[in-house]
Amino acid sequence: MKALEIDQAGWIVREDDDDGIQHILSPNFDARPECAIDMIVIHNISLPPFEYGGTGVIELFTNQLNPDEHPYYAEIQALKVSSHFFIRRDGSLMQFVSCLARAWHAGASTWQNRERCNDFSVGIELEGSDITPFEAEQYATLVQLIQALIARYPIQHVVGHADIAPGRKTDPGPYFDWDKVNTLIKI
Ligand SMILES: [Zn+2]
Repeated sequence: MKALEIDQAGWIVREDDDDGIQHILSPNFDARPECAIDMIVIHNISLPPFEYGGTGVIELFTNQLNPDEHPYYAEIQALKVSSHFFIRRDGSLMQFVSCLARAWHAGASTWQNRERCNDFSVGIELEGSDITPFEAEQYATLVQLIQALIARYPIQHVVGHADIAPGRKTDPGPYFDWDKVNTLIKI
């Protein structure tokens, strides 16, 4: 498998081969303030909750959720959110926002006395939940993606959403294997 890399415009590409990567533009982003991109925030998401493989997450990030499709969609339909990346159960990778822009994934958040983590972070959503282990294919893509981000930006911190929004968020949840990821990445 060819290596992943982030291009000058902040988009992930696979050298000479875009297999398994989709770029789907989300309107939910704005400019970052002047600061280094030094954090990666890992999340989990599934729509409908605990169901995998559908188009709900793509619809959420592109403001196209149909509130009639599921009761939960009616609740969250008005949310304007996004993540830079989404890794499906089979390890395939989608990008919704350039890394150079600010995606809206972290919400109210703090890390080491810095607030608004969206300003300086890249968000990665894993298709999953707090009640299911993640797939080996997801870890494989995640590690490659983190390595590509480290190669392009001065990443210092890889954290979970729960770490920067404790009490409000629990993802990526108890099944996320931090040891597996931390032993494979070098910061
Ligand atoms: Zn999250």
